Amino acid sequence: MRKYIFVTGGVCSSLGKGIAAASLGSLMECRGLSVRMVKIDPYINVDAGTMSPYQHGEVYVTDDGAETDLDLGNYARYTMSPLSRANSITTGQIYQEVIQREREGRYLGRTVQVIPHITDRIKQRIAMVGDQPDVDVTIVEIGGTVGDIESVPFLEAARQMVHELGHENVIFVHLTLVPDTAGGELKTKPTQHSVKEMREIGVQPDILLCRAPVALNEELRRKIALFTNVAMDAVISAYDVQTTIYEIPLVFHAQQLDDIVLRKLQIDAPPADLSEWEHVVEVLRDSKRMVTVAVVGKYIDLNDSYKSIDEALFHGGVANSVRVQLRKIDSEKLEKAEDLDEVFQGVDAILVPGGFGSRGINGMVRTANYARTHAIPYMGICLGMQVMVIEYARNVLGFEDADSTEFGPESGHPVVSLLEEQVNIKNYGGTMRLGANDSRLMAGSVIRKLYGSETIRERHRHRYEFSNQYREQLHNAGLLVSGVTPDDSLVESVEWNGHPWGIGVQFHPEFQSKPVATHPLFAGLIAAACTSRGARSAERPQPQVAESALPAES
Ligand code: GLN
Repeated sequence: MRKYIFVTGGVCSSLGKGIAAASLGSLMECRGLSVRMVKIDPYINVDAGTMSPYQHGEVYVTDDGAETDLDLGNYARYTMSPLSRANSITTGQIYQEVIQREREGRYLGRTVQVIPHITDRIKQRIAMVGDQPDVDVTIVEIGGTVGDIESVPFLEAARQMVHELGHENVIFVHLTLVPDTAGGELKTKPTQHSVKEMREIGVQPDILLCRAPVALNEELRRKIALFTNVAMDAVISAYDVQTTIYEIPLVFHAQQLDDIVLRKLQIDAPPADLSEWEHVVEVLRDSKRMVTVAVVGKYIDLNDSYKSIDEALFHGGVANSVRVQLRKIDSEKLEKAEDLDEVFQGVDAILVPGGFGSRGINGMVRTANYARTHAIPYMGICLGMQVMVIEYARNVLGFEDADSTEFGPESGHPVVSLLEEQVNIKNYGGTMRLGANDSRLMAGSVIRKLYGSETIRERHRHRYEFSNQYREQLHNAGLLVSGVTPDDSLVESVEWNGHPWGIGVQFHPEFQSKPVATHPLFAGLIAAACTSRGARSAERPQPQVAESALPAES
């Protein structure tokens, strides 16, 4: 079926458009439909690979190695939509593709213009995902805010699609803000203006999702409906949820959003089955037990830098019926004097995530050492695994200068290095290992038990590798090499022998975790955190916890 839902945003950014689009996707799947998700980013970067996490949050990596916007992570958590390079479209890609064709002479001497050439290419890219026999509904989220210059060609392409495919096949869902004033009164004017702005470019929204601190009353919904020309039942209240962002599909369903969408798109579908989402929300709302996980990284100031890791930790809580509280710690602050006993007081598990560049590395090495010597469950992801290797070489093998050549190019013991440095190939560097590949897990390892299978498939995004020159020495000393590539050429995972739970992985398991299907490594880490809490609370009293256990809205 060629059925498209465009999701746009108005008034301001960061209203949670990605989560709204993903929640709508999950609702369509709960109605038995096969859904595809597409993100359009109107920026000129070809992909998110070169963007700092401070600029744009986490870079989400797909199986085929595309470095995309973090909203694809939201889609992966809420829906079953396959995600690849095709599902992430940027202005940079569209122009690059059109210019490439122009250079090849494929426009036959015509003047190449935004309309129709850019808009045609946008429509082709959307159709490459949506116009497939096994797809029922395609949800296309247009990034940015209506009124931005950059998004105009995308909105124009979407408008043309209504014209070409018919309104029963293409609808618009517009997310807006209904702010409250100092007096507590909710204001509809910004919403009216943003819909007016859409109508000026020829698009009439069919459904409004109104973000507001509280649910909108009938009078406000009637007023918005009247001024925006949207049916009153299609003015949906996207109020701030008190429990978890995974409640949003339920909030939308309670207001019949799925029925309204299906009616407008003339799709017959079975009734909704939301039991999985209800279960997730129940656990996150009702669990009395709580564990604290410290995330020690370098991009701590921005909430979205480790988005998929944060969410995967919450999923670990769902799998173990506990609430997970995150304590984000800047690794740079742990480089020197700080008393780590104090820093990690009340912490039940520690995670060191991925990262690039040398800032804060020694703080991470100290963290890994603390977790190893204090029997605290530890997971190292990518850089977090490399840090385990450096720490072990320095403190167990006694190689004081052990380092990754990324941070210490002159090190006498480069235990983590570029592949070409290991085998002396020239001109190989500068490329990253990106996307999914198989790994083989060793019999008897903890990681193999957690996955329950010998062969696994996970995604990568890194340049440096555990150096094979030190593999045997470190393994024999107790840093077990528990996973390798199928040809045994690269180390994929390590674990601390005899430690309650200390695993490092060169890949990124967080990209594959869902609240309704927790990734086994995160389920395992949180299970270990629960045990660790029990064991360690016998030794010392736990302090009162104040931080919120809820995932931040984004
Ligand atoms: N900087 C390290 C590398 O390039 C780790 C990368 C990461 O953690 N994603 O190998």
